[in-house]
Amino acid sequence: MKILVINAGSSSMKYQLIDMDDESVIAKGNCERIGVDGHFKHKTGDGREYETDVIMNNHTEAFIQIKNALIDEKYGVIKNLSEVSAIGHRVVQGGSLFSESTIVTEEVIKGIESLIPLAPLHNAAHVQGIRACIEVFGKDVPEVVVFDTAFHSTMPQKAFMYPVPYEYYEKYAVRRYGFHGTSHRYVSGRCAELMGKNIEDLKIITCHLGNGSSITAIDGGKVIDTSMGLTPLDGIMMGTRTGSLDPSVVTFIADKEKLSPSEMDTVLNKKSGLLGISGVSSDDRDVSAAAADGNKRAQLAIDMLEYEILKYIGSYTAVLGGVDAIVFTAGIGENQHSHREKICEALAYAGVKIDVQKNKELIHGAEGKISTDESSVEVFVIPTNEELVIARDTKALVEK
Ligand code: ADP
Repeated sequence: MKILVINAGSSSMKYQLIDMDDESVIAKGNCERIGVDGHFKHKTGDGREYETDVIMNNHTEAFIQIKNALIDEKYGVIKNLSEVSAIGHRVVQGGSLFSESTIVTEEVIKGIESLIPLAPLHNAAHVQGIRACIEVFGKDVPEVVVFDTAFHSTMPQKAFMYPVPYEYYEKYAVRRYGFHGTSHRYVSGRCAELMGKNIEDLKIITCHLGNGSSITAIDGGKVIDTSMGLTPLDGIMMGTRTGSLDPSVVTFIADKEKLSPSEMDTVLNKKSGLLGISGVSSDDRDVSAAAADGNKRAQLAIDMLEYEILKYIGSYTAVLGGVDAIVFTAGIGENQHSHREKICEALAYAGVKIDVQKNKELIHGAEGKISTDESSVEVFVIPTNEELVIARDTKALVEK
């Protein structure tokens, strides 16, 4: 069975075609700058690749590029489109409506649409992607949606509520939802596998550290708290996002700088975090390199990031009542071993001990344990694979 996985953004659309017999990626690529001009990249599992500028006015035109690439004589991977058994879509916001993956129906699309106010850029793009997909692949190919928020739907109310007047929860559904759920789900499941234990018996803290970052406390396979909130702005500082702040910082700066809510939103989402503090870049590699060259603000940004990650691990250890394993994943978590080393050193009080050499070696997609046998908490580096989770959910639902 071959499953096409789609991650539609407002101006981009990433895809992977996965062969579920061995879960290998047969082809993947990205449609970029949709609605602007258009750039298309395609790569096959056996190493054939091409990229080209091609005008894509909308998501339907992007799907036509994907479809043509998959069946192309030179770069294609299937003979006929009917070989695509099902399509799985990533959807960022499932709100309180969707606590698990589901087959796409008109009602489901309307549900995702109704959540657009909670994720204006993402959900609107996903709906465009799903509708375009139906247009190009036809109604007979089953489609499934997998939500970033779904894995977090087990959070108890005391963890997901914000202490603002209760009516805002009732009127506007203002609460913590959490994001990157598919990633936290994958790496926590994989962590249990690597430990050779049942996830029901484990307390795990998963650190998804990328451009956007979130940390999650998972007890017995169920999320009990997560750092992102109503939107992906909450939690630890990120590439360009602030993470949690004293809310008065927002009103104070907006007032002083005479910024509208949307201008303030841009400051918080696009100009802050590693970029805002270092003034160098939002990319951890650039900031770390600048820090190594003696740039003090870059060093401060790195220190702040490591400090915040440590604070979350500490507080989640408390709410879990102990921790069996910590997992690092995503761009920074999988590659920036110096952060892992610093954070784990600071966790020595909790009995964490890592093998410094092993930690240095586990980068660029390598998976494994970086803690020593004496460590009282096991620490893992696990490359995330959200596409695989989406493909597995899609397969399971269409087979049902
Ligand atoms: P996104 O949240 O956009 O999916 P990623 O998970 O790719 O982002 O993470 C991007 C971050 O990961 C950047 O800060 C970057 O510095 C870091 N990163 C990505 N790849 C590497 C790498 N090979 N080596 C070091 N850092 C990396």
